Amino acid sequence: MNNKGALSYAVRFFIISILSVIIVLLLGIAFIKLVEHRSPALPLPTSTQNDKITLVIDAGHGGEDAGAVAADGTLEKDLNLEIANLVYALSILNGIDAKMTRTEDTLLYDYYGDLEDYTGQKKVYDLKNRLKIAESEENPIYLGIHMNKFSSAKYSGAQIYYSKNTKESELLASNLAAKVKRYLQPTNNRQIKGADSSIFILNKIEAPAVLVECGFLSNENELACLKDEEYRARLALTIFSSVCEFA
Ligand SMILES: [Zn+2]
Repeated sequence: MNNKGALSYAVRFFIISILSVIIVLLLGIAFIKLVEHRSPALPLPTSTQNDKITLVIDAGHGGEDAGAVAADGTLEKDLNLEIANLVYALSILNGIDAKMTRTEDTLLYDYYGDLEDYTGQKKVYDLKNRLKIAESEENPIYLGIHMNKFSSAKYSGAQIYYSKNTKESELLASNLAAKVKRYLQPTNNRQIKGADSSIFILNKIEAPAVLVECGFLSNENELACLKDEEYRARLALTIFSSVCEFA
């Protein structure tokens, strides 16, 4: 192909990609309207009845911390960011305030510039700063996006954790799990889990907070789904349709 041909092919590919994303998002909005119509109204978190919520979307890992790595080299940090970006776009399109903890492939340990040298402290400061970013919002709901991996390839399905510090977190998690089962993974019978101290942010945060392990990179079928743009859009919509009921 000559340069001009390659260029116009690239332009066509770009336009088709953008159109696909727009179509998926429009379908999503229709889907959300349907979901809103069918779902009984949830009680709003007590602290948020008069104040506007900000959804803080935290794509786990980044930079030198890839998170889980699939057998084919797919990195958790990249999938986390892809899904977080979609949830963010849906929030903004639907008039919900949203904030991403990261939009780049980077850790956040030096976000506030606390130390001269972060050697040996990167992970600690990264998590502390994600928590601080979330809590610096007046009325946040924290949404952590992660992927799972296990030594056995047989396990699949989203797993949702919630912060035990606020009752709204459990409500949000059970609503989210129900929607995942109903719209995305009909055979997923995983129970939501209250986070212990092993999940730093959920353990410390005072605001409503959930963390979604979207799927297992160790399961071949689920990995193929998570690498598929349309599946990720459906996953993001399912997550968003749950969170938006609290906003
Ligand atoms: Zn993770």
